[in-house]
Amino acid sequence: MYRGRFAPSPTGELHAGSLVAALASYLDARAHQGEWWVRMEDIDGPRCVPGADQTILQQLQRCGLQWDGDIAYQSQRNSLYQHALDQLLTQGLVYPCGCTRKEIEESQALLGQNLERHKAAVYSGTCRNGLQGKSARAWRFNVQAWSAKRGSPWVHWTDQRLGAQTHNVLDEVGDFGLKRADGLWAYQLAVVVDDAAQGISHVVRGQDLTDNTARQILLQEALDLPQPAYTHTPLVLGTNGEKLSKQNGAKALDLSTEVAVCQAMNQAAIALGLDTRSATMNSLAERPTVLAFWTAQWAQREATKIGA
Ligand SMILES: [Zn+2]
Repeated sequence: MYRGRFAPSPTGELHAGSLVAALASYLDARAHQGEWWVRMEDIDGPRCVPGADQTILQQLQRCGLQWDGDIAYQSQRNSLYQHALDQLLTQGLVYPCGCTRKEIEESQALLGQNLERHKAAVYSGTCRNGLQGKSARAWRFNVQAWSAKRGSPWVHWTDQRLGAQTHNVLDEVGDFGLKRADGLWAYQLAVVVDDAAQGISHVVRGQDLTDNTARQILLQEALDLPQPAYTHTPLVLGTNGEKLSKQNGAKALDLSTEVAVCQAMNQAAIALGLDTRSATMNSLAERPTVLAFWTAQWAQREATKIGA
């Protein structure tokens, strides 16, 4: 059975980019006669805004995107994440790390590697063999040990839109964090545990998350969890060419009037390459019929892709 999900962080209202991600995962689920669930990724407590979850849900409903099942909140799923971490600890695949961000960047510079803008430093495994008297700041997944166990550091997977993908997590990321000493769970672990616990069969999300997938696949393997199918959708870029996000000041969606809702939905459909000339949303009453038409178009496109 197909079960997809839209997983926003309740750090503010939806913007044009997040509506595109929501619409893509909705249409993909409906095109497969599947379920579409919503999960609030609110593990990063300090960044979350009280009430933003309700606002997001109201925005989805206003756009005609009705979900199935109950809304899951990551902040209420601590014990699930802890259970997974314990499983990895038992296998000897997790170790405490005492390095500061500065120390990690310095050790990378020593290795002669330059740090690209907006890219986290590769962790070179400094604490793999013990803390050397430092106190633990985080728990890391031992990518080196798991790579040895599975026989290769290379992860091969297929994106339904972007095609074959290959990543070497050990070289590109290194041993990555699962939990901070202050109790904050890492996105990678929470997502993997939730997708499996909720029975998510298909992940449809923004292209900026593509390179997270290999890390998540390694965790799925080590935790013996099923691997969902992945589709990464095109990003909506701001005028500065960067991905729209709340961090770079993307404006909240204007859904205040009927015209504004239709405009936002038509624009999201265009961003996904749908033909809105033959099915344009012109009124709230038209939401179900237009969404059904876009779903059929999406299904048609999927069918040609499989046939190709
Ligand atoms: Zn360390």
